[in-house]
Amino acid sequence: MDHFTLIDGVMHAEQVPLPAIAEAVQTPVYVYSTATIERHARVFCEAVAGCGNGTPLVAFAVKANPNGAVLATLAKAGLGADVVSEGELLRALHAGVAPEKIVFSGVGKTAAEMARALDAGIGQFNLESEQEAEMLSAVAAARGATAQVAYRINPDVDAGTHAKISTGKSENKFGIPYDTALAACDRARAMPGLQVRGVAVHIGSQLTDLAPLEAAFGRVGKLITALRAAGHDIVTADLGGGLGVPYDPAKPAPPSPEAYGAMVRRATEGWNVRLMFEPGRLIVANAGVLLTRVIRVKPGVTSPFVIVDAAMNDLLRPSLYDAWHDIRSVTPRDGEMTATVVGPVCESGDTFATRRAMGAVEADDLILFATAGAYGATMASTYNSRPLTPEVLVSGDRWAVVRERPPVEALIEQDTLPDWL
Ligand SMILES: *Cc1c(COP(=O)(O)O)cnc(C)c1O
Repeated sequence: MDHFTLIDGVMHAEQVPLPAIAEAVQTPVYVYSTATIERHARVFCEAVAGCGNGTPLVAFAVKANPNGAVLATLAKAGLGADVVSEGELLRALHAGVAPEKIVFSGVGKTAAEMARALDAGIGQFNLESEQEAEMLSAVAAARGATAQVAYRINPDVDAGTHAKISTGKSENKFGIPYDTALAACDRARAMPGLQVRGVAVHIGSQLTDLAPLEAAFGRVGKLITALRAAGHDIVTADLGGGLGVPYDPAKPAPPSPEAYGAMVRRATEGWNVRLMFEPGRLIVANAGVLLTRVIRVKPGVTSPFVIVDAAMNDLLRPSLYDAWHDIRSVTPRDGEMTATVVGPVCESGDTFATRRAMGAVEADDLILFATAGAYGATMASTYNSRPLTPEVLVSGDRWAVVRERPPVEALIEQDTLPDWL
């Protein structure tokens, strides 16, 4: 459920008409709804409340939407942050996330990033290799610090999602093989500066079936038992993110947060740990749209091309993952059309939808790509020398630009000439 609705024939974000934002900020522009972000955070937290010991830590996966205003909204709602780089760490701290609610994930943490995170006093490092454990041990020991760690296991389950966002198969780069985890934890225990306190898993994104998650959690449970038998003091388990969201209204909806929570309760029965979660997409995807204007409609051989002022550099998901985004008219006209919706970038991959049945549009109309709040603006680039897309946050009848569109001159000024030119 989201807060983008037609009111008197005009699409609104909460109580703000989208044409007013397009007029003031110009297009393309991402628009986020505070009420939707807060609602999804609440629904998820309620769905997993009562699972494990105490209140679970829900750490928002910052990579899904790192905008400072979005992060501040979530920090105010009490969420923590799952970060995968120094940049995300600093963004989370800047937005007011308490350091102890920050988890550092990722296969390629550098010594400098580890040092920064230790100095900030973050809650947990999720380790992805023994080589990484050795580096973190050295960095922590050199500063007289102790890093709280969990090994991320690779449970070798097929998450049944797009290959590019599947992370839990043995051939993927993520985590350590389940069979080697016990020995790895034993070795980590002997390293100075490390305190092994948990197990972590994250098998992929946009999951539409709970069975692979339940299988992965089963392996985590077995490992917790084995670790305790070996004398480890295991107090947390991080179950990752990955729950899918509905993109295509014609497809069956993914499992609800409530169904996910019920499965977690069943799967973690008797673990006697505090649980952690790292949802990203689920919290913000439906809370954002990419608002764009039709530049022109160009006749095509099989169907017309609707050429819009957003492009693959603004929203990469369709070209990267063949992703579907629902297309809606901001002020719907009578009639329907079947069209291929494309951006101005000089790549055939710059296609948002192919021969899509959609409401009729004409040049100058505003349309939106729905469910664009996750992995949207954050993946944007300046390809074709197009300035980064601005972002707007709506709350009730108020709205604010939360990231400006840089002037095109700023792109040019970033480059400097060597002295021979
Ligand atoms: C990307 C990622 C997430 C978030 O995944 P969603 O599908 O957006 O919920 C959580 N944890 C880790 C380690 C990730 O890499």
